[in-house]
Amino acid sequence: MRIILLGPPGAGKGTISKALNKYDGSVQISTGDILRGAIAEGTELGQKIGAAMSSGNLVTDDLVIGIMEERLLKEDCKNGYLLDGFPRTIVQADALKVLLEKMDSQLDCVLELVIPRATIVERLTTRRTCTQCSEIYNIKFKPAKVDGICDVCGGDIVQRDDETKEVIENRLEVYQKQTAPLVDYYRQEGSLLSVETSDFEPVLAALKAYI
Ligand code: AMP
Repeated sequence: MRIILLGPPGAGKGTISKALNKYDGSVQISTGDILRGAIAEGTELGQKIGAAMSSGNLVTDDLVIGIMEERLLKEDCKNGYLLDGFPRTIVQADALKVLLEKMDSQLDCVLELVIPRATIVERLTTRRTCTQCSEIYNIKFKPAKVDGICDVCGGDIVQRDDETKEVIENRLEVYQKQTAPLVDYYRQEGSLLSVETSDFEPVLAALKAYI
């Protein structure tokens, strides 16, 4: 599948894209994971973006577009890709359109996850993430077998520093202002599929019916 996942932080984009990756091998490309990786490695890019990320603001369009231009050309994207967290602005969506045209690649759809705000805030404040493989846990609904240790890879599980209550509020505001306009952008293009769930089975059924 070739899909963009759209929805606020905590809507379930990462979880759905990991499940779709297992289902058909389409590669999950999470710009958030790529950017966190750059910070963890202390690269020049990581140093530029640390402050924006920990305050919940977006990294500049040119940086993210540059990353995606390289990433989408890699061999593994030929079997399909699940864009988790990109595009996040109209400028990024326009750049993606040009890039896909150059690649002669067409999206199957833009999948919007519509989840109530209260559910999102609860999910994000109780979410924990593996620092190594990015597996997602939740202290209430999906705890790790051994506290603080990832079931999948044995890495450390932590609360992301952009998942405190204050930063979450800012991320949701940033989503409303900068990313939510993409819903209309893709609706007008005729490629938007909106679902009011983040459970894998109904999402997959909706995708199959749409594609
Ligand atoms: P995520 O893991 O998708 O929630 O992203 C975490 C953070 O990474 C965001 O709050 C932004 O600071 C940054 N980020 C991820 N994707 C993008 C993007 N497409 N454009 C700008 N910043 C991004």
